[in-house]
Amino acid sequence: MLIGLCGGICAGKSSIASYLVEEHQFKRIQLARTAATPSVEKSASNVHVPPAELSPNDAQYTFPNVDSLLEFVTLRWRENWVTTDIWDDKVVDALLRRPFFLLVSVDAPVSVRWQRFKDRCASSQLTPPSLEAFVLRNDEHLFAPGTGLQILFERAQLKLLNSTTSIPSLHAALAALNLPNDARLRPSWDQYFMQLADLAAHRSNCMKRRVGCVIVREKRVISTGYNGTPRGMTNCSEGGCPRCNTAAKGGVDLSTCLCLHAEENALLEAGRDRIGATSILYCNTCPCLTCSVKITQVGISEVVYNQGYMVDTQTARIFAESGVRLRQFSPPREGLVDLSGGLDGGEDGGVGEGKVGDVREVLGDEEFVRPVR
Ligand SMILES: [Zn+2]
Ligand SMILES: [Zn+2]
Ligand SMILES: [Zn+2]
Repeated sequence: MLIGLCGGICAGKSSIASYLVEEHQFKRIQLARTAATPSVEKSASNVHVPPAELSPNDAQYTFPNVDSLLEFVTLRWRENWVTTDIWDDKVVDALLRRPFFLLVSVDAPVSVRWQRFKDRCASSQLTPPSLEAFVLRNDEHLFAPGTGLQILFERAQLKLLNSTTSIPSLHAALAALNLPNDARLRPSWDQYFMQLADLAAHRSNCMKRRVGCVIVREKRVISTGYNGTPRGMTNCSEGGCPRCNTAAKGGVDLSTCLCLHAEENALLEAGRDRIGATSILYCNTCPCLTCSVKITQVGISEVVYNQGYMVDTQTARIFAESGVRLRQFSPPREGLVDLSGGLDGGEDGGVGEGKVGDVREVLGDEEFVRPVR
């Protein structure tokens, strides 16, 4: 696989890359920058000086453009590669087309990154910037029209919040995260079908709850459903169901509700003949009692749900008695993953980009960081 790490100044890209090299035998791979380096990055990237952890042999893994880099990795995709050279949209477009590529963004509070930057300056006897100077530099780095990197971070498949204050706690968090897990590159069947059920839920028009459902037979989708009023009737969200548009609590007055449930819609769409004896029903919410009896009657063999509903125990009892397997599957959480996660390793040193002593890139920008006199 190939992992691309992108992030702000001192967010921790190089620390994470080093971890992958040391703990998981990844190799660093570099991409030359084709456009001129914006001045804002001159103190904040490894553009000018190779990172300290690169050995002279690593020069063979430096590529003039993203196409040649991809050609190289495509032939060696079973090996593990990591790069921090995520320069722009074009690079991200090219990399994300490949099934072996994972884009990871790393972020940290600006005060934490400033502290890391100051630590780095201090270790090479340089005067650190003021917080204001750092913030302005950071804003330009992330938000400058045309070159700002923030927009790239949004495309990351995995987003990390690295506010940890020590290398050991960062490493512990990364170990728990298991970055080389290639399930992130390609979803399992459960994850794939549950995501389809979630997608169906986005079409829900019921005022009470978004529910989506997918019925699968031998790994093929045979029908999908979401909840809402029947065809030809006003959508629930436009007043179509009087019960759902009142303050009735979940599960109350269900007999007066005009909305079909996602499972009902999917069952009606598929029909008993197509469902057969081996179909699995994926639903983002555990089925209610009336859906459970219909699921049982039509011959579904297994129900996989993500979130619980208020009658899970009774639903489980119905399925247990009728021989329908029931299990919960929750896809990996999306959004920001907080690496600090309660792990606080104390004051063992900053977790910046690069190791302590890796300060040569700071020297590249004398306007920003002046030597102490
Ligand atoms: Zn409704
Ligand atoms: Zn209703
Ligand atoms: Zn239901």
